[in-house]
Amino acid sequence: MLYRRFGRTGARVSALGYGCMRFLSRKGAPTWGANVDVAGAVALLHEARQAGVNYFDTAYNYHAGTSERIVGRFLSEIPRDSVFVASKSPVWKMRKPSDFKRYLSIQLRRLGTGRIDFYLLHGLDAESFAKCRELGALEFLEAETGRGRIGHAGFSFHDAPHVFPAIVDSFDWGFCLMQYNLVDANSQAGTAGLRYAASKGLGVAVMEPLRGGDLVRGMPDAVKRGWAGQPEFTPAQHCLRWIWDQPEVSVVLSGMGTRDQLAENVAAASATPPGSLSPAGRDLCTRMQSAYLGLRKTGCTRCGYCLPCPSGVFIPRVLDLMDERSMFPESPGPSMSYSMWLPAANRADRCTSCGSCESRCPQHLPVKKLLAEAHAALTGGASGS
Ligand code: SF4
Ligand code: SF4
Repeated sequence: MLYRRFGRTGARVSALGYGCMRFLSRKGAPTWGANVDVAGAVALLHEARQAGVNYFDTAYNYHAGTSERIVGRFLSEIPRDSVFVASKSPVWKMRKPSDFKRYLSIQLRRLGTGRIDFYLLHGLDAESFAKCRELGALEFLEAETGRGRIGHAGFSFHDAPHVFPAIVDSFDWGFCLMQYNLVDANSQAGTAGLRYAASKGLGVAVMEPLRGGDLVRGMPDAVKRGWAGQPEFTPAQHCLRWIWDQPEVSVVLSGMGTRDQLAENVAAASATPPGSLSPAGRDLCTRMQSAYLGLRKTGCTRCGYCLPCPSGVFIPRVLDLMDERSMFPESPGPSMSYSMWLPAANRADRCTSCGSCESRCPQHLPVKKLLAEAHAALTGGASGS
């Protein structure tokens, strides 16, 4: 295993971290729920530690609370200081300032430890960060870091690129966690955000390096052929190595459900110090990136000039999900995100065809038509292709 400095926290973290949100169920199938094969999950965590993984990332809500208990059991079976534990505050549950402290206490109890090494405000976007500030989250982080119940304070991020630097600059964060992979180089925080955070001294952890597996499931033929041209690594390893090649990245989290996945990722991590991809390897990744991005159909650049929509439609996000569906047609993710995570008030069926977005779109996109297609496709109607 290779280790990297985690920004100003000074910690030496393993290049591969364990994302504890995709353990297998008792029937051996992937699950998000609480019905986890606990013994199997704990055994995998031990195996990861033996392979050199020292960063274990969980959250209040993962596996409906079972993930933190599993990590707690693992911690009880090893010297506490032999690993780092990261967990996340469920900011969407906070109603009053004292809630932050109350949830931290619950999490420490579940984990059976007096300290969470890396504690994050979970899934920040512009709106939730504003709410956190109003409720005194930053003062809470300062106080608990002083008390030692939190080692270092950070945040995870899900919003448009322009929101990211503002959050980075709002507090003396030790680190951050961002979604980053071959097809998200220009969305969410993106490569620009990665470099910005690192330049400000933050340790950077990466999540969704394979987009929940979408990058290696049902690959388009062009991508399959491309990866096959450099068979010394698997497609998953190629995708991970593209991230580890970048010196600003400290730790890449992977939600490994099986021993084989763990072994595959450990091998790739151990073979990829920063800057280690050959010109041919980088060129291949760039071509595969273009192959995926070329499947997008809307032409939307997520610039946001069409906002605000008077009817509340979150146009860039809807079109983003439509493009994800084009890139990953076998994935349930885009439809789930549309139905479960995008508030009904922001969905495409709120459009009243006023047309004001189209006159503001620098790409001159037929936004009304695209939204109608997106809604149908993402709710199981027409394909929209
Ligand atoms: S056309 Fe539809 S999406 Fe565009 S601004 Fe008007 S209501 Fe909003
Ligand atoms: S203005 Fe056009 S390109 Fe920009 S986010 Fe809106 S639809 Fe997309």
